[in-house]
Amino acid sequence: MSESARRESPEQAEFRARCRRWLGANVPPPAPVRLPQTALEIMTRAQLDYLCAWQKAAYDAGLVGCDYPVEYGGGGRNDCQRIANEEMQRVGTPYFPNVIGLGMAAPTIFHHGSEQLKRELLPKLLSGEEIWCQGFSEPGAGSDLASVQTFAEPRGDKWIINGHKVWTSLAHFASWMILLARTDKAGKHAGLSYFVVPIEAALGKGVTVRPLIKITGETGFNEVLFEDLEIDDGMRLDEVGKGWTVAMTTLLHERGAGPLVTPQSGGRRAGESEDTGNASRLIELARHAGATAPARPTIR
Ligand SMILES: Cc1cc2nc3c(=O)[nH]c(=O)nc-3n(C[C@H](O)[C@H](O)[C@H](O)COP(=O)(O)OP(=O)(O)OC[C@H]3O[C@@H](n4cnc5c(N)ncnc54)[C@H](O)[C@@H]3O)c2cc1C
Repeated sequence: MSESARRESPEQAEFRARCRRWLGANVPPPAPVRLPQTALEIMTRAQLDYLCAWQKAAYDAGLVGCDYPVEYGGGGRNDCQRIANEEMQRVGTPYFPNVIGLGMAAPTIFHHGSEQLKRELLPKLLSGEEIWCQGFSEPGAGSDLASVQTFAEPRGDKWIINGHKVWTSLAHFASWMILLARTDKAGKHAGLSYFVVPIEAALGKGVTVRPLIKITGETGFNEVLFEDLEIDDGMRLDEVGKGWTVAMTTLLHERGAGPLVTPQSGGRRAGESEDTGNASRLIELARHAGATAPARPTIR
């Protein structure tokens, strides 16, 4: 019995047994296509469909969003995502495709979103029916994120968005984006606000997504251009000018350091594992790549 299993409450032990039973009968079939190493490199619809079907099945079985409240599509449990993750890792299930949604958008919406946004957005995010991307980086705002220039201009109860985001992983499949935008040109950090944007619904109507091709020939990153995109004020998270504070919530969770739902939920996003397998696989690859490795750009 693992150290964490020993300290489990009866409810958690019962949940672990349930996960184990379900996984015993429902480990997904092997992927019909080669999968990339991480969700951020999903390139084809076939890869996405396979991974989304897996996330939906796991969600329906109660293995995703375990610690989120029931009214937001979660399981209403206490520190059970960690248990589901351990059990999934034990049998080697695939990763979940909605990695930005689960790890960054969901906790940000949970902590800063209106009641309506939480009820409307979180269930389909957790089930993977709606994929999310992150619109933070810009050509002139990377490490210095507070230099963001994408501008949201107020017009009645709407915002008109113009700007250029870059390195936007998964934007080519995303329904929604978490967006950091400038609403005041005077202050730097204080001039930022935070929105959720239905980018898929706005494709060709104020939103353009352009893939960026990497040195490996793979896609995964995109540029996203906004041209007079109109969104409702209801899509704003927290107050106007509080965007930097909201972005810090997102980045805290991106680094795996945030209390995901409650302090008890241990900062785990669904599917996150303690796996150190990547490092050992990399060492194996280096061992077997031989003397030609430095000349082969993909290995380098
Ligand atoms: C796998 C991957 C996925 C990503 N997905 C997303 C995404 O979905 N959405 C998104 O918004 N962004 C994404 N990013 C972008 C990532 O957040 C950027 O790499 C980051 O914003 C850095 O910006 P930049 O690449 O423009 O580098 P720059 O900010 O130009 O920095 C380049 C180098 O200069 C150094 N540097 C910068 N400023 C200083 C300074 N003042 N003093 C000393 N050194 C400095 C940096 O440390 C770095 O080494 C992703 C990146 C990666 C690698």
